[in-house]
Amino acid sequence: MSATVNPQGKISITGISKTYGHFHALKNIDLEIPPGSVTVILGPSGSGKSTLLRTINRLEKPDAGFIRIDEDYIGYRQKNGKLYELKEKDILKQRLNVGYVFQNFNLFPHLTVLDNIIEAPVVHKRLTRPQAIARAEQLLKSVGLQHKTHAWSRHLSGGQQQRVAIARALALDPGVMLFDEPTSALDPELVGEVLEVIAQLAKSGRTLVIVTHEIGFARQVADQVVFMVDGEIVEQGSSDQVLNHPRHARTQNFLSSVL
Ligand code: ADP
Ligand code: MG
Repeated sequence: MSATVNPQGKISITGISKTYGHFHALKNIDLEIPPGSVTVILGPSGSGKSTLLRTINRLEKPDAGFIRIDEDYIGYRQKNGKLYELKEKDILKQRLNVGYVFQNFNLFPHLTVLDNIIEAPVVHKRLTRPQAIARAEQLLKSVGLQHKTHAWSRHLSGGQQQRVAIARALALDPGVMLFDEPTSALDPELVGEVLEVIAQLAKSGRTLVIVTHEIGFARQVADQVVFMVDGEIVEQGSSDQVLNHPRHARTQNFLSSVL
């Protein structure tokens, strides 16, 4: 049995539905995300973007459907052609291979930048402490924050905190990275530095799924753009098709409202 996700990063979303009481947050979503690609998810507030992202690493359990990353069913193990639900500790283990970056950074405020980054690889015994420190230093350099290694995370600007959060998510070397509106909590002048780091990451061969309202950024990095309304995918295609030649009135209206 393998509870780990092979870091190729092909994501297959099949028939995912989620209800909260009588409310259908996701309605039978199908989506293929090729390995190493960048997918941007757009849509008005409440359309189900975060819920979809959260089902990919099983922070949210769907009512129906499956998520596969490469050969692994998220939340399940396969044995003799049958699926068995994983225990919470095995779900946690599986989740280590999917990096998640939150709107509000979610750093540990009482820890230094370095300790934020080395925590997971050390606790989960993926790396020894010296290895984790070496990797953290390398990651901090790649996000332009090597001079903040020993700073308290609460003393950093929002843009710096989010770059540390990205480095922290990368510390376990995940094949898949999920971003839920990574720049919407930032002051406008700090958005660029975070988008630049994500754009660099887009070239790294990892699979990125990004919920964002930054249309210019989506144009620059997305291989695939998905537009959601009311728990459904209304339109999907290349960034040129969806952003420059949207077919649906809902997409057109949305784009004219955010541009
Ligand atoms: P988006 O990220 O596109 O703004 P969400 O995925 O956060 O949308 O939410 C989709 C809908 O599901 C919203 O109407 C939201 O109120 C509802 N929802 C999300 N999470 C919960 C929850 N835990 N309980 C009840 N309703 C929820
Ligand atoms: Mg959301």
